[in-house]
Amino acid sequence: MEAVVHTRPIRLGLTGGIGSGKSTVGNMLAAMGAVLIDADQISKQTTGPHGAAMDTIRAQFGDAYVDASGALDRSRMRELVFSEPRARARLEAIIHPLVTLQTRLRTEEAVQAGARMIVHDIPLLAESGRWTRQLDAVLVVDCSTDTQLDRVVRRSGLAPALVHGIIASQATRQARRSIADVVITNDADCTLEALQGQVGQLARLFGL
Ligand code: ATP
Repeated sequence: MEAVVHTRPIRLGLTGGIGSGKSTVGNMLAAMGAVLIDADQISKQTTGPHGAAMDTIRAQFGDAYVDASGALDRSRMRELVFSEPRARARLEAIIHPLVTLQTRLRTEEAVQAGARMIVHDIPLLAESGRWTRQLDAVLVVDCSTDTQLDRVVRRSGLAPALVHGIIASQATRQARRSIADVVITNDADCTLEALQGQVGQLARLFGL
């Protein structure tokens, strides 16, 4: 049988609730040769020191929302968004097009470099409809809410009630699974070796 010849990379959307193990799975795929593009990281860069969104943020929200390093003053912006929900939409209208542009540029680079797989790590994929047209398949990392809670509390030291609140604000497991082409189950009884086994199977399935 002939090997699959990739004329263009397969584009996978990778998602999962907080603490599900998305980054761990993404890093495993990257170690196997996939190019990982992290939507959150790109988004944070646009509002980091002198990031691409900062001139527009200063113009629209004022100097008070820019800290001494030229980055978004996140705690001040959080307060504003809390008291004035429309501010979130205004902020997103600045950031989203820049994230889309950066994603395109990085995708193009990966295509030029001959990548076989591009993995888009998109934590809120189930909550946002704007990605699906660009993806060949959606990979969901799933685990129980208890496991999420345990991992996040252990990693961050945040109060369990706060973590519960974050989990409740995200898409439900069912909603996330309903957009999945492939589900990786990463519950408390799944060792890293077993997780690697599932990721290896998936990589073979997609010709990585
Ligand atoms: P977030 O949404 O908060 O970024 P995430 O979904 O990317 O989380 P990870 O950062 O991959 O999740 O995993 C959360 C924590 O759980 C990490 O400390 C990771 O090392 C650990 N972890 C994930 N899966 C396993 C596993 N199968 N065995 C042991 N530890 C794991």
